[in-house]
Amino acid sequence: MKTVTLPSGENVPALGQGSWMMGERRERRSDEIAALRAGVECGMTLIDTAEMYGDGASETLIGEALGDMRDRLFLVSKAYPQNASRNRLARACEASLKRLGTDRLDLYLLHWRGSVPLAETVEAMEALKAQGKVRHWGVSNLDTGDMEELVAAGGVACATDQILYNLTRRGAEHDLLPWLSDHGIPAMAYSPVEQGRLLADRTLAAIASNIGAMPAQVALAWAMRQDGVIAIPKAGSVDHVRENRAAADIVLSDADLATLDAAFPRPRTRRPLEML
Ligand code: NDP
Repeated sequence: MKTVTLPSGENVPALGQGSWMMGERRERRSDEIAALRAGVECGMTLIDTAEMYGDGASETLIGEALGDMRDRLFLVSKAYPQNASRNRLARACEASLKRLGTDRLDLYLLHWRGSVPLAETVEAMEALKAQGKVRHWGVSNLDTGDMEELVAAGGVACATDQILYNLTRRGAEHDLLPWLSDHGIPAMAYSPVEQGRLLADRTLAAIASNIGAMPAQVALAWAMRQDGVIAIPKAGSVDHVRENRAAADIVLSDADLATLDAAFPRPRTRRPLEML
């Protein structure tokens, strides 16, 4: 499995597993557990969740599904902005750890920017790191200006910015991805198949058919084409997970990349970072 290097020097898989909407429907539970386990077995050991997802139901599902595999995982969770304060972050983290059935998070993210000053969140994250509750911390949905403020506020140890990035959401290529790359901070691409909406696209289907792949695989291979980008698709079935895993081995040709550029042009001017 291709890897991405965190600022600490640790390598993580370039392809992980998302979990938004998981753990919320009883009839899907056994498929979701099987999907998550199959993903870990084939190297997608980075698992992304958040206290927000199903009000903790996603974290609970992951704890149940992957508890016996804990030491193989790189567990990522996220705190609500209103919990990212000196007084509340430790409590939110403790609740996530309890639901996940673990004593530490590998990466803890501020889910999006709220009214708590970034310097205070940095201090609270560093305190959790010093206590061993969190191995790394980072942010999500922060645009270039926010990242500059974060670093100025002492957040030099930020390990990732998790952002909306796929063929239809290329705004980050203008200045955010270059900024992250210059600072050695990996981007984590969420909704890499645009929550499924990308998969019926004709250009994607044509390229997929030419190279004997599926549209989702082309979309994922595109998101992972550059160093320093981790993709975290959510898949609720073993078939989808296996298909996604194989995308990490696909290298798109220059001609296919040019075709995708023509079909999904990058915005010509700067746009604020979009979020879902
Ligand atoms: P994705 O782009 O990952 O799309 C998920 C959808 O695509 C599901 O309906 C899934 O179906 C389908 N899918 C996945 N793989 C395949 C495949 N091989 N073939 C066909 N369909 C497929 O969207 P998400 O919004 O879930 O993003 C991924 C993760 O990123 C989230 O789960 C979450 O962990 C994170 N995220 C973070 C955000 C943030 O603000 N930081 C915001 C949004 C997401 P099925 O379930 O049936 O397999």
